Amino acid sequence: MVTSVAPGQTPFRIIYSERFLDHDTGPGHPENAGRLTAVVTALKAHPIAPQLEWVEPCDRNPLPWVNAVHDPAYVLTLERIAERGGGRLDGDTPVSSASYGTALLAAAAWLDGVDYVLNHDTAGFVLARPPGHHAEYSRGMGFCLLSNAAIAARYALDRPTINRVAVLDWDVHHGNGTQQLVGNHPQIAYCSLHQMPAYPGTGATSETGQYNNVLNVPIAAGSRLKDYQTQFEQQVIPFLKQFQPDLLIVSAGYDATAADPLAGVDLMPADYGILTTACHQIAPRVLFGLEGGYDYQALSQSVLATIEASLQAHSNRRKDSLLKDSSRR
Ligand SMILES: [Zn+2]
Repeated sequence: MVTSVAPGQTPFRIIYSERFLDHDTGPGHPENAGRLTAVVTALKAHPIAPQLEWVEPCDRNPLPWVNAVHDPAYVLTLERIAERGGGRLDGDTPVSSASYGTALLAAAAWLDGVDYVLNHDTAGFVLARPPGHHAEYSRGMGFCLLSNAAIAARYALDRPTINRVAVLDWDVHHGNGTQQLVGNHPQIAYCSLHQMPAYPGTGATSETGQYNNVLNVPIAAGSRLKDYQTQFEQQVIPFLKQFQPDLLIVSAGYDATAADPLAGVDLMPADYGILTTACHQIAPRVLFGLEGGYDYQALSQSVLATIEASLQAHSNRRKDSLLKDSSRR
């Protein structure tokens, strides 16, 4: 399903399916279907709604890409647990009967996102669950089943003309899974800002990847926008710009907001707009994919701020290129 976009406006694509609600984590779990429903409701009620283009993931089999990143035996185990009605990967990570199919659909949506931003030289948002950045080679953990950002990065490298992909992970928790799966790949850079000490305990500055392709930026509890801006200016942007990525994938978790129940960092939803603007300085093609974020209101407003800033960046870029064209005449 593709919704119509008002004439003259640049659409912003959101890849979403109601099937992402089917991954059932049970009563009281913070990573639940209500997160997505809240975001969808907020986006559809907002004045930018006419500029949003909602697209279902296309019908594709992401397994070759999933198995290129994960241990195929783990992927099979995930399928078996779902087939027998569900179970748990760890105390935090339930698997329901629908979870395997939903996780594959989420991975497919991230691949669609890669295709979209590369084909259209733009940005897009994958509004999917379950999240992925904690899922390691042979085990899911921390609410995550399949490492969507790592799968998407590896997929992008198989596209012609794509030589380098960077992943920026601003979820408040360290993406141990993504780092493990891309840290030994010279064509993928990984940069994470995360509260420390906090779950999962990884992400020290000494973890730099096999090719110095990993940058970990620990954040203290109570940090605010100015602390993030300092880190962006001094570390994050120089590191990512120097890598010269053809595509920037953002592991967009929104649990660093002050309202979030699972962490202690004090960003405001609007701050993600400022971080998004910085992302567009790193690479013209930016794919945002949802990770954490557990306060419905803060999550919805943060996603909105990301999309608004992305639309603005795209509009500015178009104006710049029109100016350049007219100055050549
Ligand atoms: Zn998180």
